[in-house]
Amino acid sequence: IWADVLGYVRKNISEVEYHTWFAPVKNLGVQDGALVIGVRNSFAQEWFRKHYLELLEDALRALGAQNPQVSFQVLPAAQDALLLPSDPPPAPPGRPPGRPPAGGPPTGLPTENRKTLNPKYTFENFVVGPNNNLAHAAALAVAESPGKAYNPLFIYGDVGLGKTHLMHAVGHYIMERFPEKRIEYVSTESFTNELINAIRDDKTTQFRNRYRSVDLLLVDDIQFLAGKERTQEEFFHTFNALYENHKQIILSSDRPPKDIQTLEGRLRSRFEWGLITDIQSPEFETRVAILKMNAEHNRIDIPQEVLELIARQVTSNIRELEGALMRVVAFASLNSVPFSRAVAAKALSNVFAPQEVKVEMMDVLRSTAAHFNMPPDVIRGSGRVREVVVPRQVAMYLIRELTDHSLPEIGQFFGRDHSTVMHAVSKVTEQLGKDPNLTASVDALRRHLQDVEDEE
Ligand code: ADP
Ligand code: MG
Repeated sequence: IWADVLGYVRKNISEVEYHTWFAPVKNLGVQDGALVIGVRNSFAQEWFRKHYLELLEDALRALGAQNPQVSFQVLPAAQDALLLPSDPPPAPPGRPPGRPPAGGPPTGLPTENRKTLNPKYTFENFVVGPNNNLAHAAALAVAESPGKAYNPLFIYGDVGLGKTHLMHAVGHYIMERFPEKRIEYVSTESFTNELINAIRDDKTTQFRNRYRSVDLLLVDDIQFLAGKERTQEEFFHTFNALYENHKQIILSSDRPPKDIQTLEGRLRSRFEWGLITDIQSPEFETRVAILKMNAEHNRIDIPQEVLELIARQVTSNIRELEGALMRVVAFASLNSVPFSRAVAAKALSNVFAPQEVKVEMMDVLRSTAAHFNMPPDVIRGSGRVREVVVPRQVAMYLIRELTDHSLPEIGQFFGRDHSTVMHAVSKVTEQLGKDPNLTASVDALRRHLQDVEDEE
């Protein structure tokens, strides 16, 4: 039953979420009629109560429980003092979560579609930006008039940019509006494996009937057809049968048809019959919007500046972007700290280039020196004139604010004792808002030190 519960949960939340929260839990069996789940600490316990109780009850209900009850118990502290979420595993290529392994049910009744289409991959959940608006518009056009707008629709782009999401979105859209339509989603990998099995078991007729009788065929990661002659041959006939009957075909690939090596010419030309559209890496604003939507979906209240920091860290792959958000959420909740830029930077420091966000004392010194136009060693030197003292105090103040170093450590860095640092910090604090020059300098330096240059 525990495996079934986990299976149910997994189908209903994202992979990263699942791995962040459910991978480390323990099944403690049934006590007093309630399923008891062991979690790592009281924060996780609170988190589960708030976010996953209903889902777990649903899971039990789906498994036949009349009056499902779930409770969470904190496990005795293990040696895992460092509360970092486990890394999400690499996604299996071309197979969305929830997709049964290759060679699954042999026939696709319309209701089966629900199992192969990820419920989260809808148009509503798809953030449109300059990077994907053409692909989105084409997919929507196809969804509104399948077989009539563009056939086939060929979507290409790098991994993790939303190709599978868009294909499923078309599937959901058509399924809702035309419930009688038969929809088949398959990865090229599964298509190949199913064909191999069908040949082995002498069931090629069933295989053909299945794929040639659908209204909408979604074939993911078609670049994997390269070099597979028998599969190409079979797919060629499938394609023709559907195309001639005005059935909609959508294909995805990591590259355009002309760049798929060892693809038969007749297939390549067919892929080019309809519309070829691409998805590019999302711009900063789109990345922030995707994070925002994700946070709202997961009912996480997380400040804009933290989302922006995450969006700056992960620039190309949306799956990783979502993974980064989950990591920050898990880190903050497991350690019971509020979401802040510093917390986010810490949570991500193991995964993404830490030097980009971690502010070091040396950085502050160098930037301050450059700002005031003097060599760093002069700031650290023994000079007592105002021109040197003010930059020194600003540097101490900013180090105190932006790093985790203690007063004595900062003092040592400047060859002074902690009381000098304390004095500098209170001096600057006192002058902020009063002295416009000083305030402007501190603000400019803080912005410079905190914000990683945006690549756009
Ligand atoms: P691909 O098939 O191109 O490798 P996916 O469709 O699997 O990429 O997308 C990876 C993840 O990013 C999925 O969780 C998907 O929901 C999400 N995603 C991709 N594009 C968007 C978007 N425009 N808006 C919201 N989420 C997106
Ligand atoms: Mg995909």
